Amino acid sequence: MSFSSLGISKHFIKALDELKIVKPSPVQEQSIPFLIGKGTDFIAQAPTGTGKTAAYGLPLLEKIDPKSSKVQALILTPTRELGQQVAKQLFKFTKYSEKIFTEAVYGGAKIETQISALKRPTQIIVATPGRLVDLIQKNAVDLSFVKVVVLDEADEMLTLGFKNELTKILKHTTGKTHTWLFSATMPPEIKTIIKNYLAADAFRVTIGTDRLNKNIAHQYTLTMDEDKLDTLAKFLKNMGEKRGMIFCKTKAAAKTLAKQLKVKNMATDAIHGDLLQKERDKIMRAFKNESLQFLIATDIAARGIDVRDLAFVAHYELPDQVEFYIHRSGRTARAGNKGLSLIFLTKGDMKQLKFIQEKLQIGIDKVVIS
Ligand code: AMP
Repeated sequence: MSFSSLGISKHFIKALDELKIVKPSPVQEQSIPFLIGKGTDFIAQAPTGTGKTAAYGLPLLEKIDPKSSKVQALILTPTRELGQQVAKQLFKFTKYSEKIFTEAVYGGAKIETQISALKRPTQIIVATPGRLVDLIQKNAVDLSFVKVVVLDEADEMLTLGFKNELTKILKHTTGKTHTWLFSATMPPEIKTIIKNYLAADAFRVTIGTDRLNKNIAHQYTLTMDEDKLDTLAKFLKNMGEKRGMIFCKTKAAAKTLAKQLKVKNMATDAIHGDLLQKERDKIMRAFKNESLQFLIATDIAARGIDVRDLAFVAHYELPDQVEFYIHRSGRTARAGNKGLSLIFLTKGDMKQLKFIQEKLQIGIDKVVIS
């Protein structure tokens, strides 16, 4: 199977080749022909890191009329990071095509700058729901020519509390546009959105029935509370040059762990809800340019992060929700690579470990870190 046989135009394929995106991933194989062809309402349940941006992005680009400067497509993402990454990918895909302008808008940045940016020709808007509602209220966007609305990581948008904004936007666009929804999980709130705002005959695609990327090895190591930090440090040392993320449940735990690991001379820092956007961007830049080897994060702060070549995800604290375990693990083993998801387990977590194994139908193997 090739991108050309899925119906993608030559000028996009040339750019994809340069990005080493040559063989369509399963979600791309299943989505692209429908989205390019009929392109009506569409629902994909696919884990993160499986190539969903290209799965909807390429058909979307095929549908844009570069001659018209009107906004023709809208992509909603839960976070600024994911929004920026999506915009960046679309920009790369169009390297050899006629110019198609994408603008990413999100909260935490000056709205005035975004309003003036939107006055230039813009064919695709990538937005976080809250900021888009603000822009609609200020009459700063004209959505009357939008043909497609994409909801990317729809489940995360709801987890982050964007339900009202999302329904406001969908009320505004339903009937006039086609809606393409991507979600790693299908909790009841997503099903309600689908029932209320998508056509009953929406085309459905499900990738990976166990909802987890098959290239992830799941392991746990049993430690005592007082040995946990040393066990983690040992594991990180064993990783050599390999890069990864370390998850904590709370901001306080993430901050403390960052301090403790820095004392041990580890190239690490933490992102959590107490950081200013500027500080967060600085840490993300350092992690992406590899001056930080390990990134500590809370579940909420980690939303939408896509850093290439992460060899592992460490759960320093096990999450309460199984969905969080899925999202955390999805940070590794991206783009066909193998990855490790390792839990630092204390005795009290045993029940939760069993619950995760049963719910996700995965084997989590015990390992000893020495
Ligand atoms: P996504 O799920 O869209 O966040 O994509 C995850 C990563 O996989 C991104 O860095 C993409 O550039 C990359 N990618 C997407 N599709 C393919 C493909 N067919 N082959 C190789 N890499 C891909």
